[in-house]
Amino acid sequence: MSFEEIKQKDQQYIANTYSRFPTDLCRGEGATLWSESGKKYVDFGSGIAVNSFGVNDEEWKNAVIAQLNKVQHASNLYYTRPQAELAEMLCSRTGAKKVFFSNSGAEANECAIKAARKYSFDKYGEGRFRIVTLKNSFHGRTMATLSATGQEAMHRSFAPMLDGFDYAEPTFESVRAKCTKATCAVMLELMQGEGGVRPLPVEEVQKIEKFCKKNDILLIIDEVQTGNGRTGTLYAYEQFGISPDIVSTAKGLAGGLPLGATMFFEKTEKVFAAGDHGSTFGGNPVACAGACSILSRIDKNLLLEVQGKSAYMFTHLGRIKNVTEVTGMGLMIGLLTTKKARAVSEACLERGLIVLTAKDRVRLLPPLTIKKDEIDFGLRILNEVISE
Ligand SMILES: *Cc1c(COP(=O)(O)O)cnc(C)c1O
Repeated sequence: MSFEEIKQKDQQYIANTYSRFPTDLCRGEGATLWSESGKKYVDFGSGIAVNSFGVNDEEWKNAVIAQLNKVQHASNLYYTRPQAELAEMLCSRTGAKKVFFSNSGAEANECAIKAARKYSFDKYGEGRFRIVTLKNSFHGRTMATLSATGQEAMHRSFAPMLDGFDYAEPTFESVRAKCTKATCAVMLELMQGEGGVRPLPVEEVQKIEKFCKKNDILLIIDEVQTGNGRTGTLYAYEQFGISPDIVSTAKGLAGGLPLGATMFFEKTEKVFAAGDHGSTFGGNPVACAGACSILSRIDKNLLLEVQGKSAYMFTHLGRIKNVTEVTGMGLMIGLLTTKKARAVSEACLERGLIVLTAKDRVRLLPPLTIKKDEIDFGLRILNEVISE
């Protein structure tokens, strides 16, 4: 099937929710991808921070295939080894006490929202169910996570939103002002991803944490995008010197298979009892086997490599003419330029480099294992496109 035929079928039969870039990626090796017609790309997107170790990673493939050869699904009515192993790995690496597995970031956040409400209901009774989130945040597309998302433009056509969310500016003072006797949790991305690759100031986050602890308001950290080594530590919260009560993650966790995880720390470990929450597919053994392969290799050495590549990219990106700001942490990088982000991403694609956008920024999320020559190719194309 030619690209034009695929595009025609897609446009005829698939709901119009995406403005797709004009390529049909079909195979790859690490951070290098090819389209059906053989056009070659370097990947600074990882399928939106999902393909943590790029494409075709041998060890990951072997782990996934080995599990496919055993059982592809068993239901959460039964025990499975990959799920138990992954949960142990997540807990021992983070200090979390329990994990709930789902299939996506939105579901991981739904679970966090339900858990926060139940924690408060069990302890304080009715009425203490509100959650403070930030303006310009992004927490997902389901009704609850869309309601949690602090972007009015995304709410408008889908009103009414779920009751119980209050939106604060990204400062301690604003968060404190939005908290009332009815507040059970504060939910934050430590670095807004879709909102434009903006890390929150560490001091503000620490003040929010202290305030939450004092008032028994749960601190939920949405690490759907920032998690799993993306920012140079296993989870971004480690760099903020805070101890969250709940952490959600998804995107890069299983290296390309759909998997979400909601981690419960000391205070919240006993919130759920049998029947309180569940999922048919959540924690699927194939996805969990893939995640075990990824997580076990996001070790100290890999994280140091991520930090090194990050520093290298920040240095070179900062020197590009017409780049006015470089933001981000690790291999999650935002570029503000004098050009329109979408136009930059389209021009890059034409020249064989895949980049993303987030609001007014170009967003870079290369595989954690990207090679030096692939980084250099990407930097050269970005330099050509942005500085011309
Ligand atoms: C992508 C993202 C989500 C939603 O994840 P899905 O897997 O698309 O449901 C939620 N929160 C953040 C911070 C994200 O980046």
